[in-house]
Amino acid sequence: MKPSSAATVSAGLGPGRSPADLLGRLRARGGADPVTHVERVPARAGVPAPWPRWAPEELRAAFARRGVAAPWRHQAEAADLAYDGQHVVVATGTASGKSLAYQLPALATLLGDPRATVLYLAPTKALAADQLRAVAALELAGVRPACYDGDTPRTEREWIRRHSRFVLTNPDMLHHGILPGHAQWSGFLRRLAYVVIDECHTYRGVFGSHVAHVLRRLRRQCARYGRTPVFVLASATSGDPAAAAGRITGLPVAAVTEDASPRGGVTFALWEPPLLPAEPAAEPAADLTQVRRSALRETADLLADTVAEGVRTLAFVRSRRGAEVVAANARRALDEAVPGLGDRVAAYRAGYLREERRELERALLHGDLLGLASTNALELGVDLIGLDTVLICGYPGTRASLWQQAGRAGRSGQEALAVLVARDDPLDTYLVHHPEALFGAPVEATVLDPANPYVLGPQLACAAAEAPLTPADLALFGDGAKEAVDALVEAGALRQRPTGWYWRHRERPEVDLRGEGGAPVCVVEAATGRLLGTVDGGSSHFLLHPGAVYLHQGVSYVVDDLDLADGCALVHPEEPEWSTHARDVTSLSVASVRSYVDAGPVGLFLGEVDVTSQVVSYQRRRIATGEVIDTRPLDLPARELRTVAVWFTLSPGSLAAAGVEPADVPGALHAAEHAAIGLLPLMATCDRWDIGGLSTAVHPDTEAPTVFVYDGHPGGAGFAERAYGTAAAWLRATRDAIAECGCEAGCPSCVQSPKCGNGNSPLSKPDAIRVLDVVLANLPDGVPAPRAGDPCPAPRPAASRPEA
Ligand SMILES: [Zn+2]
Ligand SMILES: [Zn+2]
Repeated sequence: MKPSSAATVSAGLGPGRSPADLLGRLRARGGADPVTHVERVPARAGVPAPWPRWAPEELRAAFARRGVAAPWRHQAEAADLAYDGQHVVVATGTASGKSLAYQLPALATLLGDPRATVLYLAPTKALAADQLRAVAALELAGVRPACYDGDTPRTEREWIRRHSRFVLTNPDMLHHGILPGHAQWSGFLRRLAYVVIDECHTYRGVFGSHVAHVLRRLRRQCARYGRTPVFVLASATSGDPAAAAGRITGLPVAAVTEDASPRGGVTFALWEPPLLPAEPAAEPAADLTQVRRSALRETADLLADTVAEGVRTLAFVRSRRGAEVVAANARRALDEAVPGLGDRVAAYRAGYLREERRELERALLHGDLLGLASTNALELGVDLIGLDTVLICGYPGTRASLWQQAGRAGRSGQEALAVLVARDDPLDTYLVHHPEALFGAPVEATVLDPANPYVLGPQLACAAAEAPLTPADLALFGDGAKEAVDALVEAGALRQRPTGWYWRHRERPEVDLRGEGGAPVCVVEAATGRLLGTVDGGSSHFLLHPGAVYLHQGVSYVVDDLDLADGCALVHPEEPEWSTHARDVTSLSVASVRSYVDAGPVGLFLGEVDVTSQVVSYQRRRIATGEVIDTRPLDLPARELRTVAVWFTLSPGSLAAAGVEPADVPGALHAAEHAAIGLLPLMATCDRWDIGGLSTAVHPDTEAPTVFVYDGHPGGAGFAERAYGTAAAWLRATRDAIAECGCEAGCPSCVQSPKCGNGNSPLSKPDAIRVLDVVLANLPDGVPAPRAGDPCPAPRPAASRPEA
């Protein structure tokens, strides 16, 4: 690609430079039109509201000094509810000013009651630091806001506990520091008026379930000190935010969802890179090598094109290494056209210092920098204003984050362009051909499961170590708490006395909120002995096997050795041209069935399963092109996982009647399984890496052809349950994704999987469609959601049922 003209001054997308014109030039680069859909998201005028009557003049004046003349309606509405003592979640778009919604009631209360305190929780330290600056800039007397996290010097901690009335921290610090040391915090907790939970949609899956119990522990301690604080939550736009906020806090929560902030119009294009000509197989096992041009290359070209036009552009890329590849390729293309022009593109690395981030903001604002490639917005921590175009390299996993990223475009109400560049996988391909799944559908609900016994047990142990558990406490922790406590007594962790349950050990229980499936593995730089970070035990075989490329804060390392006995991986810095992808082999047995649907020749089940998996090899793939270099064997032990799975069975007769030859059944099921895993993120807020699958022509526990899809976390994270509840819609989307893919025999866009343990063999694309047609023809549209306390029927072998 050759940029057509040199950038002079960033003129933005003013009159005569509409997003539609820009898009027209981008798509007219020759070859087939890559744009599959263009959606116009109209502009919206803001609806201001008067300041609440209860907001003191001092506070209004402080906001006015910071440029806030009046709140938007949603901010005032949420603030009113919270000030009234109602727990509330405000769930609106990017840059809609959610912070004012909690700052108003919290700060008004601090000004009105000189003893009151506020606790603010953010998922990252960077976000807490940004919020601290925002609150400190208001210069309100007596508030004394302070961050209290792992970086806070010991010498300052006592001062903060005693004197700060607005403490900003994160769930990890609450769990590891504040709650175990609650006695030192008693003065603060005794006066706690508000708990603010920012970006609460990020608390999902197993991590979210842990955080839900950390908040219950906080509520319990507050109650012991005689307080019932009001919870104010802020969320990105999400499906049913009141229910999600209720699940995470355990409280009834009102939702404010109508965004009243102004927004410029956005032209949103869906972009599918072209198929490359078929090439001879690089590997004997994979004979299907038809692939699309990589989304990274396509995004780099688009970034170079927009920068060459003088348009300020931000490219979102899923991995840090990917962001660097995009920036480097765009720079090279620009320098080829006009030497020196490449300097106006940069990659953003997490871990930048505050000064460096401000320098980037300044350079973008003044147009010295026109293009930035970065990972997701949350870790960006940069206040980006004045962007004309956002490129999204690969579907970010949820509609909620898609809108969040697209929402970065548009300066002060001007028209902007957003482009989603599809990666070569089933979900992205489905979405660019089904715009209604993006633009017509509500954003996802946040999935978490506080009843997961693998979360509940350890959290109850933590609670007991903080203060003995009483029978009254059990209701607070919800379903399964009694069983979990009994199990802890049985295991010798708790002692039962007439007054309650007591933690038996001197040391506190060791529970990692973000870790799951075994103790975390330390990543250590061999030459210096420096600890770079930790990886949870469950992922360590995938991410830290010998030869794995491990990324830490944008720096690339290669693993020399994984010592499982010591829980430690030794690495050295190196930036190879490839990424690594581990593969595993899996077997599975059914432990119990929680719920099932008997649909004639088809059965749909939800239940507990035991999964045994072993990481056996890894692929090396060239980063720029995705081309497979080779596959190398690994020698790692097998591991066991008790988790939750959804599975469907078909009778052999129904498969034969649909025209699937017995010899093709394994390939048909395997292809359907891959695509079903790829499409599940459409239904649940999970990543395809959070779930696993297994398919077999006859499974010993079901005695029938079966496809299993399971949560990759001990005890389950709610994903399989969600898949069961939406099975008909989920499998319909899966079927359509396969049928509509333009390839002949299957490709990464439909039935191939990047993490297949069997080298994507056997796979039969046409037979997978037949399998799913049989399932969909029999399965009722609505599946009743499994209820807690339902009796578990014994597994029912599908083959024993009469044929339809
Ligand atoms: Zn395909
Ligand atoms: Zn596979």
